Formats: sequence, structure tokens, C-alpha cells
Amino acid sequence: MARILGTGIATLDIINTVDGYPPEDSEVRALRQDVRRGGNVANTLSVLAQCGHRCAFAGSLAQSPDGERIAQDLSLRGIDLRHARRVAGATAPTSYILLNARNGSRSIVHYRDLPEYDFEPFSDIPLSEFDWLHFEARHCVELETMLAYARSLVTDQPLSLEIEKEREGLEFLYSYADILFFSRAFALGRGFEEPEAFLREARGWAPQALLVLAWGEAGAWALQGDTLLHAPAFPPERIVDTIGAGDTFIAGVIDAMVSGHPLERALEEGCRLAGRKIGQHGFDGLVEHKPVFRGQALCPVTALEDPGSRGFEVEINGRMRSIFVVRQGAAVHAYLNHCPHAGTELNWQPDAFLSMDRRHILCTVHGALFTIDSGECVLGPCRNQSLTPLPVSIEQGHIVLNTEPSR
Ligand code: ADP
Repeated sequence: MARILGTGIATLDIINTVDGYPPEDSEVRALRQDVRRGGNVANTLSVLAQCGHRCAFAGSLAQSPDGERIAQDLSLRGIDLRHARRVAGATAPTSYILLNARNGSRSIVHYRDLPEYDFEPFSDIPLSEFDWLHFEARHCVELETMLAYARSLVTDQPLSLEIEKEREGLEFLYSYADILFFSRAFALGRGFEEPEAFLREARGWAPQALLVLAWGEAGAWALQGDTLLHAPAFPPERIVDTIGAGDTFIAGVIDAMVSGHPLERALEEGCRLAGRKIGQHGFDGLVEHKPVFRGQALCPVTALEDPGSRGFEVEINGRMRSIFVVRQGAAVHAYLNHCPHAGTELNWQPDAFLSMDRRHILCTVHGALFTIDSGECVLGPCRNQSLTPLPVSIEQGHIVLNTEPSR
């Protein structure tokens, strides 16, 4: 497990899957619509979190309902938002994406008025606590200041930089990175139709760096010193969603490298993970790895509705106990399934612990209502008494009960 800081953007993606790209000035019906959190670095971090790494996001988040939705999604995936900057009065960056079901291609219209993350919040981050720093090349003037600062503090940890598209001032960034991740679109935009020629040219811009270039169905290339490496793609049976293939590829490479694998294997792992990603919608469930928790993992947070509840039988201090967990937004609360008044279990139906309006915990025996966040009875015969709370937290997207079962 490594501690990884990602600096870049998190967006809201509104994805309409269509049967073929529509002609201009026409109207078509989408086959399906997905609304989910996106953004290059946010995607990369969410895959790295699945791989079991402790990730933190350094970027701007709008203080708006959509911004909250993005923040909540990142928290649920176990990504630390302490270093994010919250901005009032801005819209969450939104990508309107047309996904062509026939070939998996995606066309994106991006809207953004949210100010870019800058040096001020970045300078408060204890950078030396991280094992890897990853950046997305966006606002190059600010980013150069951040990279220079990071370079001055961090010597042993790798510093990687993703160059996805042309931006003014990119040439000032190259010298700070240990690893440069280029996209095919960038190489094509520079007039290179062929990966090796591009990488040999890029060697001149960054003599010190490991250069990596993903190239869609042809896999990925890397230039380490003068040595060219290639890993083939791992195409799935059917390509359904290529959104975030490059972000997933980067996560796969970083995961393999922090795990100590050689570059050849890292390229291969990046392609393998990206191949799995394009065979499914979204990023959930990409990694089969079972994270190690310090307590008892109960279930993924996303297994509960919002708000929603679920009951469990767990061993606490050598005794099997009936407990339940309530999810409310990005927060989870756990209690013993034991009414302080009746001494009975609260629920009648499995997993049903909430009132009709889902604003309280309900004891079905006497109709008592308890607050979700403190378990205090606010209506019914046990008013002012409380449910017994249990220490629970979210780790890497899982609800974890922090009471060790006795051995
Ligand atoms: P981006 O999402 O930045 O456009 P690419 O299209 O270059 O990134 O894809 C990144 C990685 O995803 C590739 O290196 C490859 O491993 C995998 N990939 C992308 N498209 C395909 C495809 N059509 N078939 C197999 N693998 C693919």
C-alpha cells in the first residue's frame, strides 16, 4: 500500500450512449444515460484506491449540489479530500459525453468556470508524507510553481506528470518529472503518426524522465533512457466504454511501479487494467484485489442506498451480536440492534431500520424514532435514551467496523 497524491480535476460526467454518432442538427434518443464523477486525476485515483493505495486529491471542488456529489463520490471511494480547495459561486466542471455504442468512441463537450487549483492550497500539503506525487498538466504557470516546490521537498518519491493535450507552457514542466505520461491525441496533435518517433523527439524535451505513451488498441510504449519498450493491448470481448481508458492505464502503471515491478511489467499491467475497463461501464469492480482492513469489513458503501440501512451479525468481544449500519450521504453510522426501551431488535423486515421518510431510525416494536447520526430517541417511550453506537468508518470504499473480534 502506498500513499499517493493526485493533483488535477474532478468533474461530473453526463454520458449519453448512442447507437452511432448523430449527424449535425439531428435529434436522436440515447440508449442509456449515466451520470457519474469523472476527471483524469480523479479517475486515476479511484482506480488506485481500488488497488489498495491510500489516495488524496488536490484539486478544486465547487461548493454546489453537483460539487457535493463529486466530493461524496470521491470520499466513498476512500479518497482523502483534506487538500482539495472548495470554491463558492462556481459550477462543478461538467463533461457532456456522447458514447458511440458501435465502437466505444467518445466525443466530449466540457464546461468549466471553476478556478484551477493553485499553489496556495498546494503549499499546505505535507508532501513528504506521500510515496508518489501525480500531476495532470493543466494551468501550466501555477503547475510549474507547484512542481518546483514539490521537487525542492521531495527527492526520493517519484513525481509523474500526465500530458493529455496541448497547453501553453508545457515545455516549462517537463524537467521536473521523473515520469511523463503522454496521450496518443497529444502525439498525433504534434504530427507524429508513430509512437517511437514521438518518444525519440520527446527524449530531447526531458532527458531525465521515463517517457510513457498509451496508443489505444496498439497498447503502450515507453522510452527508458534509450531503450524502447512495448506492451500490447488486452482487448476485452466487447468494447463498451472507453471513457477513462488512459486514466486507468496510468493507474495500472503507477500501481505496478510502487509495488516494485519492472517497467515492462508495469506497462503490461497498465494495458491489462485499461483493457478490463473498456469492457465495462464505469470503473467500479475493476480490481479483484481484496484490501486489508484494520477492522471487520462489512460491505461496500455503495451496497447501501442513500439514505439506507443494512443489518449484520458480527462477532464483538467474543459474542455474536446483531448490529445495523445506516448510510446518509458520505457518512455511515452503526448501532447495536437493540432497542433501549423494549430490549428487542428494532426491525421487523431484514435490513429495514429507517422510518418511511428515511429521516430517522425506527423501532418497529413501539414506533420509537431515533436520530440517524447520534442514535438519540426523539419520539416514543424511550425519549432521551439512545441506541448503542459502534465505531465504524469508511476504508477504501468499504464500511469497516473497528471492533476487533476476540481470538
Ligand atoms: P485515452 O483514454 O487517453 O485516449 P488510449 O485510448 O490511448 O487512452 O488508451 C489507453 C490504454 O487503454 C491503451 O494503452 C490500451 O491498453 C487500452 N485501450 C484503449 N483502447 C483500446 C482498444 N480499442 N482495444 C484494446 N485496448 C485499448
